Amino acid sequence: MMEHPENSSEYAGLQVNAGVIPMGTRNPYLRRGRFAQRHLTASEYVEGILKGNTSVLGQAVTLVESTHPAHQQMAQEVIEKCLPYSGNSIRVGISGVPGAGKSTSIDEFGLHVLREYGGKLAVLAIDPSSERTKGSILGDKTRMEKLSVHPDSFIRPSPSAGSLGGVARKTRETIILCEAAGYDKIFVETVGVGQSETACHSMVDFFLLIQLAGTGDELQGIKRGIMEMADGIVINKCDGNNVDKCRLAATQFCNALHLFPMPESGWTPQVLCYSGFYGTGIKEIWDMVYAYVAHAKANGYFEHRRNEQAKFWMYESINEQLRNSFYQNPTIETLLQAQEQDVLQGKKTSFVAAKQLLDQYFRLLK
Ligand code: GDP
Repeated sequence: MMEHPENSSEYAGLQVNAGVIPMGTRNPYLRRGRFAQRHLTASEYVEGILKGNTSVLGQAVTLVESTHPAHQQMAQEVIEKCLPYSGNSIRVGISGVPGAGKSTSIDEFGLHVLREYGGKLAVLAIDPSSERTKGSILGDKTRMEKLSVHPDSFIRPSPSAGSLGGVARKTRETIILCEAAGYDKIFVETVGVGQSETACHSMVDFFLLIQLAGTGDELQGIKRGIMEMADGIVINKCDGNNVDKCRLAATQFCNALHLFPMPESGWTPQVLCYSGFYGTGIKEIWDMVYAYVAHAKANGYFEHRRNEQAKFWMYESINEQLRNSFYQNPTIETLLQAQEQDVLQGKKTSFVAAKQLLDQYFRLLK
């Protein structure tokens, strides 16, 4: 019988095994730099975008979304160079509460629009949840299964960093890049949970509100001021034994719309029923969108709305940059904490604390 090693006088209890040379995490046979991403110059980005190269477009959008100052500077250069080639599209905002059927519908809407009108479609998003929870409501997974594999579509999830204003600005800048890349139809999807809809409305030509029947949303929409923004209200899931309920809801929405004054566009918002899942009623929705565009182009409102939006975004950018300059100032950052404590402990009023901080900030600027 073999002696147990522990009974040997030479046994020391522990034994050090010969080591194994660890495998590198890099493949040594791979030629250096073969797959390394080369940084493009601004002109190279622009050239790629104008050629409709989706990989370059994707990289440029990443640049727009980056918070790195060097990236931001480059992004602004690219956007500026793309600006003369932008604007040639129909921008449609699509909003609805989670579960309203946005992904299902956008998949169908997109296929319909590409089939009937040709061209190229970009689907962008504004996800408001990124601000507070850092999570996303719309989700990052590809939710539009058919559209995502269509050669003429470009789908991009919501930018995730920063305030809602920041997220929305990035989406707006992405619209410019997409248009320069030849995307003549832009969908901007947003979750119907509040301010993100206003942001979305401020960058689209037509704002489409997806509603469900029997959820009491008819009143909610009025309360939140969303219905006033809608150029069209569409009631989804009008299928099976839900049809009657949807028709009833459509009447209620129509009645509610009469409570509002005539929109500036001179267009009476329409209410339509459809089923995103079964693909019924989709054509009528897009006939409506295109009828609106023809109407608004004829009476000059299309141009007017875009000009107003450009003005709005100029002020938004000023506000954002002022805010960032203030909050990212190192001296202010330190003072803020102290002032915050004073306010919390009732030593100072909020107004006085704010004034002192701003005075200090303006002194620092001198
Ligand atoms: P989102 O959260 O707004 O993007 O909604 P989804 O597109 O993910 O849809 C939410 C749920 O509603 C899914 O289970 C869909 O299958 C379902 N749904 C979407 N459209 C329809 C429809 O037209 N009819 C029916 N019956 N169900 C639908």
